[in-house]
Amino acid sequence: MTKLLDAFKKRQSAMLDLLTALVERESFTREKDSVDRLVDFLEARFHSLSPSSVQRFPQSDVGDFLLAKWNETAPGNPFLILAHGDTVHPTGALSSMPIRIEDGRFYGPGALDMKAGIVIALEAIRALQQSGQLPPRPIHFLLNTDEEIGSPHSEALIKDLAADCELALVMEPATKEGAIKTWRKGGGKYTLTIDGRAAHAGIAPQEGINAIIEFAQQALEINKLNDLKYGTSVSITLVEGGSAGNVIPAQVRAHIDTRVMTMSAMEDLQAALTNLYPKMPGAKVCCVRGHQRPPMERRPGLFEKVAEIGERQGLTLYEGGTGGGSDGNFTAAMGIPTLDGLGAHGDGAHAPHEHVIIDSLPRQATLIAAILREWALGD
Ligand SMILES: [Zn+2]
Repeated sequence: MTKLLDAFKKRQSAMLDLLTALVERESFTREKDSVDRLVDFLEARFHSLSPSSVQRFPQSDVGDFLLAKWNETAPGNPFLILAHGDTVHPTGALSSMPIRIEDGRFYGPGALDMKAGIVIALEAIRALQQSGQLPPRPIHFLLNTDEEIGSPHSEALIKDLAADCELALVMEPATKEGAIKTWRKGGGKYTLTIDGRAAHAGIAPQEGINAIIEFAQQALEINKLNDLKYGTSVSITLVEGGSAGNVIPAQVRAHIDTRVMTMSAMEDLQAALTNLYPKMPGAKVCCVRGHQRPPMERRPGLFEKVAEIGERQGLTLYEGGTGGGSDGNFTAAMGIPTLDGLGAHGDGAHAPHEHVIIDSLPRQATLIAAILREWALGD
């Protein structure tokens, strides 16, 4: 066992205390006041680690964002640590899924996704700083609070910070198998609107244009865009239409969720979905793209480099990927080397059995500290 891992193992209970404090501060994305209480707590925590600066970005719709910088004036491109403070669990979830430790696992809402990731990154910085081993490079740590809704408010700030960074470290949980995420699918949301014409279903059905019948035909066409073998999925996930039981429906609205492995698949899908033509005379079909995250395509050589760093600490690393998106999708699509899934190991993100495998806390802190210390050596 190496010294770094030994030192972090001694910090395991301190890390669990911090994790408990973060999980106790429930932070559902849509509840700004409670998210801001977590942000207040973390702001103080950042200050306790003697950063060069801590900036708070006030938000009106979601919790405020925090940006802490160490070695602000050091030369070289910064490391960018990305973490989100929000969770998908509404306030009160703690009462139905209370914090508990069982069989080496820490249970609690948001523990895995990704409060443990925040703990790991803070602990890595603390240890490097106390031992005088922070790299002679700027380290930027961004905490946003809207990741679980696709980061609509923080996307611009993330991109701005990523533009000149050396490496983006995303503190999302590892895969269920404990692997680093080197690829993620991208995704886009679409809204399909079909307009027909209302008519009395008994007196004059022939005067109507049935938007549901038009939708049914479009749905079958849209379903054909699935190409699961190449990682493309197109799912109609929500439908609303019609106005009353005796009225030919004048309108249908549907939501479409798309996931892709590559930028080119994303562009092909967009072309197909925004060029749907009506099947029925007089019907109107309109499909509009909403929020979109580009895919994080696997970058050759990146995993190999981090695996070597891990190996020197006695850690064997694995790589994997996922269909879900993260803020790493934004940075990777900009061409910035991005390592994702660097947070805790565990299972049940977004679910009632969400938990962290406790001994992954010192393990991942070792990895983050080693990456920060050694990534740019020899540059
Ligand atoms: Zn997350």
